[in-house]
Amino acid sequence: CHTNFSVPLVGAIDQGTSSTRFLVFNAQTSEVVCQYQVEIRQSFPKEGWVEEDPQEILQSVCECVEKVCEMLTHMNISTDLIKAIGVTNQRETTLVWDKETGLPLYNAIVWMDLRTQSTVDRLISKTPGGNKNHLKTGLPISTYFSAVKLRWLMDHIEEVAHAVDTHTAMFGTVDSWLVWCLTGGVDGGIHCTDVSNASRTLLFNINTLQWDLELCSFFEIPVEILPEVKSSSEIYGYLASGSLTGTPISGCLGDQSAALVGQMCLKDGQAKNTYGTGCFLLRNTGTKPVMSDHGLLTTVAYKLGPDRPACYALEGSVAIAGAVVRWLKDNMGIIQSSAEIEKLAASVGTSYGCYFVPAFSGLYAPYWEPNARGIICGLTQFTTRNHLAFAALEAVCFQTKEILDAMNQDSGVPLTQLQVDGGMTCNQLLMQLQADILCIPVVKPTMSETTALGAAMAAGSADGVSVWNINTEHSVTTERYQPQINPNETEFRYARWKKAVQKAMNWET
Ligand code: ADP
Repeated sequence: CHTNFSVPLVGAIDQGTSSTRFLVFNAQTSEVVCQYQVEIRQSFPKEGWVEEDPQEILQSVCECVEKVCEMLTHMNISTDLIKAIGVTNQRETTLVWDKETGLPLYNAIVWMDLRTQSTVDRLISKTPGGNKNHLKTGLPISTYFSAVKLRWLMDHIEEVAHAVDTHTAMFGTVDSWLVWCLTGGVDGGIHCTDVSNASRTLLFNINTLQWDLELCSFFEIPVEILPEVKSSSEIYGYLASGSLTGTPISGCLGDQSAALVGQMCLKDGQAKNTYGTGCFLLRNTGTKPVMSDHGLLTTVAYKLGPDRPACYALEGSVAIAGAVVRWLKDNMGIIQSSAEIEKLAASVGTSYGCYFVPAFSGLYAPYWEPNARGIICGLTQFTTRNHLAFAALEAVCFQTKEILDAMNQDSGVPLTQLQVDGGMTCNQLLMQLQADILCIPVVKPTMSETTALGAAMAAGSADGVSVWNINTEHSVTTERYQPQINPNETEFRYARWKKAVQKAMNWET
């Protein structure tokens, strides 16, 4: 941490699935000045259900902001130097609240939740020819996206249905909930979202960049409950309480978009992979949406200002990456902390023929198979928890290889290296394993908080703030992991992995 300066600073709220962070960046050097992080509780009330408490999410943000302000004061840095705040968030997670009481009407339904499978089946059967792919949205109809979660809430939760009928309901993803609350809530809070978050709802037309009335009527969702869609970089409103009262909120990006921006993947063809709760590989396709033939999503990546063009990305999404580590910790108790997995895996350096497909929420890209379930196979008397730990990390790498292969096939131009970030990338064994399995170098910025950085860049460069100059040629210091094993060895293991995936998809038959 640095002291004794008067350069402009920009704050970033990074509200992820596992935790909330608030970071303050130096707008001239992109360095982190100060940060604070709080873990978020997840509840699993039934098999396949994943919820978080909207009030806890909000409080965690306020706590992180206040803690950072205290830390800055201790460092003799004035909080007045914070000129803007950006928000980045776990995407798709769905909330409904009452605009008169300001209270949530149900828990947040988290993106990986599977409760909507029967809603999805019903909706697909309503489409002409039972086609689940919606070209206007770039997404398949799946439990993953917000509209089906919202439909479920309107069908099953009386308070939600009532509030929709009486015109007091507001829908939002986590960004909308936070911005509305932080800009005043019932006292004039701003109900908005940005194009990157809107493009994950199934209600947003990614060509016209507007809510699509035909889709709203297909899902039977009144457009009035949806937030206003804005660009990812403009002043939405001002903080209404706390130590930073009056500071503009001027950046908003879904977490994967923010990481793309933070990694400076601002040109057509540039890509990054983020290893958090899930794993998300995004490749910038410039100002044109490109449709996938290999199970990838098409999404709005960002629009850095009301008058700037929207940029699109092809995305490969993996539901379970860091979540498998959390599962080994919380459900199996074989590690005490996420970081401990590296020690276990390194002690053996092999899975000894054990394969672990963590299809806890079905399989996302490139399979989109909701009925897949997790399997561990290839066990012998010799297998220990160390091998299982290795197999879990290897699973993250194999899943990335599957989406990278799909991405290379779709674009026709193979990636020659992989830029990475996210909470899991501090695991060096994982990074080396990833380079070995992909047979290309893996490149990690030394400053790994790229998601927060992207949100800060959007906020700091917004019109009316203009303290951050986004320089696409700016070079960052990185760590590189070179492939070290024989590609034949990789091919052999990957072929086995593919067999295990087939078993996970057909485990009942
Ligand atoms: P999110 O943005 O989805 O909240 P993060 O980027 O904060 O996620 O990453 C947190 C995830 O990374 C957790 O699932 C955690 O289990 C996993 N993780 C954190 N540290 C390590 C580590 N050293 N090795 C493996 N996994 C880790």
